[in-house]
Amino acid sequence: MDSCSECGNNSLTPRLHEGHNVMECDLCGAIAGGSVAVATIERAREAEQEGIDASVFAVQRAIGRLDGVRVTESHGGDRIRRRLPFVRWQALDSRGIVQLENLAKSLRLSSTSMSMSWTLEVDYHSTVEFVLTPRAATTRPREADVALAQADLLVLGRTLDRDVRLAWWRHPAAHG
Ligand SMILES: [Zn+2]
Repeated sequence: MDSCSECGNNSLTPRLHEGHNVMECDLCGAIAGGSVAVATIERAREAEQEGIDASVFAVQRAIGRLDGVRVTESHGGDRIRRRLPFVRWQALDSRGIVQLENLAKSLRLSSTSMSMSWTLEVDYHSTVEFVLTPRAATTRPREADVALAQADLLVLGRTLDRDVRLAWWRHPAAHG
């Protein structure tokens, strides 16, 4: 296949994006390659447009879409500064509180697929806030911990997108 499926242009260039070898259309920038590669690159581009770290984007989006939840801050982790990733949000009303049970259950079910132990922390800054972050084995996370946590975020993003559609995921009533 040597023409772009989006615009029909015949000039495609091999490129390395987000660790994947793909073909990129010289005209419209559309990516051709394996479905995982294309999805990863499109998510990274979407994240970049919204100014969000690509590694945390899917998780932040999944949490931000929940009823009664507003994401206030997120970080994709920083291997150089050894900063672990996190997503912080507020529960706007009781619907947001119901989501905690869902999130905790989803974390429990996906724990065997993840390298780090992820926790839901409760914090208070003029209102109650919740933080999803991995627990580091040592006080100062190692560079490897940050890398593992970033890999976990990709797993978490996929499992959250899946779990919100499953029967056990509780959807709070509009007035609760
Ligand atoms: Zn094109």
